[in-house]
Amino acid sequence: MRILFMAVAFVLMMSTTHAAIYQQGIVYVIYDEAGDAAPVDKTDLNVNGVPDVVEDIATQVNAARELFKDVFKFPDPLESERFNATSIEVDIKSKAVMGKYNGISGKKVRQHSKHNPNERAIHFRVANTVNPRKNSTPTHEYFHEIQYGATYFMNDWFKEGTARWAQDAVQNIKEYPDGKNIPSQLEDDTFAEQVYQGSYDMAKGFWYPLALNMNDKATIPDSLIEKYRYVDGSPVFRDNIIYGANVVREVIQVMKTKEELAAAEYGTLNEWRNKGRRDERNNKFIMASVREVYHGKL
Ligand SMILES: [Zn+2]
Repeated sequence: MRILFMAVAFVLMMSTTHAAIYQQGIVYVIYDEAGDAAPVDKTDLNVNGVPDVVEDIATQVNAARELFKDVFKFPDPLESERFNATSIEVDIKSKAVMGKYNGISGKKVRQHSKHNPNERAIHFRVANTVNPRKNSTPTHEYFHEIQYGATYFMNDWFKEGTARWAQDAVQNIKEYPDGKNIPSQLEDDTFAEQVYQGSYDMAKGFWYPLALNMNDKATIPDSLIEKYRYVDGSPVFRDNIIYGANVVREVIQVMKTKEELAAAEYGTLNEWRNKGRRDERNNKFIMASVREVYHGKL
């Protein structure tokens, strides 16, 4: 009798932790309503039964998507032949599952998405501790999907450096590093070697200085700033300034034309795409792309 009672209690407990799906446009946020993996911040200002952080994650992804795709003309990852998808799924996971990461991007398309098995989705994970009002992880992870859709190059100084750079879209960066040393740095092999060892730190160490030097300052349209607000009413775009959108887009497009060269050094195109995406021999091709864009001066 006691065992039966415990079994019933267990089933009841499980049934309260089933995954819920919140949809906003083509973005689906999949989260547990209770238990260890549920969003830690349960604030629900608009009393719709969905934690505000869940809605705010979807809002930030939609905002970043419209900015990069429609304003700055980055390639749309959904339309990439690598993905060919129609939706974006964001899974909220417990901090225990995520380890030290606030977000983890998905490199493969989800052929049978969680919200509809007949629909394909690109996807990434966000930790249940993330509050998008204070944290630009959704933009960072979405930018990885743009990268993956556009190029197979994945060396960290490019991959993490430009994903960290992309967070500027929804952040208010008060002081950018200046780019006065960029002309000499781009000719300096020792500097290049330092850049190749970098990762997230190359946003400030390389990509912002490059953008500043090239005077690639852009304004986020007022209409977009008005359109995207978190549940508490605050704007997703914390200011209207972003540096580097044209530079980074152009570099990615030039990189794409160098994939076959990098692959030929590594092996076959398939081998390179599967195992060579972070090979150190890629670095010179990525840097050559930067130099071409720099000397073309947009
Ligand atoms: Zn990243």
